[in-house]
Amino acid sequence: VRRGDPLVQISNVQKHYGDFQALKDIDLTVNRGEVVVVIGPSGSGKSTLCRTINRLETITSGTISIDGKELPKEGKSLAELRADVGMVFQSFNLFSHLTILENVTLGPIKVKKMKKAEAEAVAKQLLDRVGVGHQASKLPAQLSGGQQQRVAIARALAMQPKVMLFDEPTSALDPEMINEVLDVMVGLAQDGMTMIVVTHEMGFARKAADRVVFMADGQIVEESTPEEFFTNPQSSRAKDFLSKLL
Ligand code: ADP
Ligand code: MG
Repeated sequence: VRRGDPLVQISNVQKHYGDFQALKDIDLTVNRGEVVVVIGPSGSGKSTLCRTINRLETITSGTISIDGKELPKEGKSLAELRADVGMVFQSFNLFSHLTILENVTLGPIKVKKMKKAEAEAVAKQLLDRVGVGHQASKLPAQLSGGQQQRVAIARALAMQPKVMLFDEPTSALDPEMINEVLDVMVGLAQDGMTMIVVTHEMGFARKAADRVVFMADGQIVEESTPEEFFTNPQSSRAKDFLSKLL
């Protein structure tokens, strides 16, 4: 297990959608260089948790800090802090009218004010790293789902985030493309990237995760190492969930 100082600190977070409470008393600290897999039944609040971490959703109460800085509710500094958090969604969300290269350079040029040539050099390196460097001048629709998702990872990395969030990054992919995306993620983990990954891919969790966090009904029910969680879950909710997953 790798150890570092706390990078993401979530304290006593509550999130309501109207009367419905989607997150209940969430406390979670993710240390620098740590990989945390979040797992749990549909509707348990996993996506809501990811979306609150980079303030795509506001929280009802509690605090979320990234690298010691608390996320403000709104305002100019929110954009800056949001840039510290890279997010990869189930649907790749690439801009369909932009080339692969332009998809990756857009954020660095617009938000980081990087010069175009520099942004392109960085983007090409990242596209090579995720194995789609030869597709840089194509449009997203010309790529497979697995390739598009790898571009989405490169696009997030281009912003030099401190932490990467993945929300079920392989669940919209055909089976043969899942591993090419997971392999890129394992590589990132090995390079020391701090990652929060919502996934039901147990192979990935076993290979790359330092910790598994199990959520149900908006709460963290238990957390442990992948080995412990998959072989000896403590709660009946987790046992029930795993028996359906296998
Ligand atoms: P998961 O990702 O674990 O499947 P979600 O975070 O998407 O769960 O959803 C948690 C709960 O919050 C679900 O009951 C869902 O219906 C509800 N929910 C999610 N987004 C909204 C929203 N925008 N408005 C109202 N309810 C929502
Ligand atoms: Mg979800």
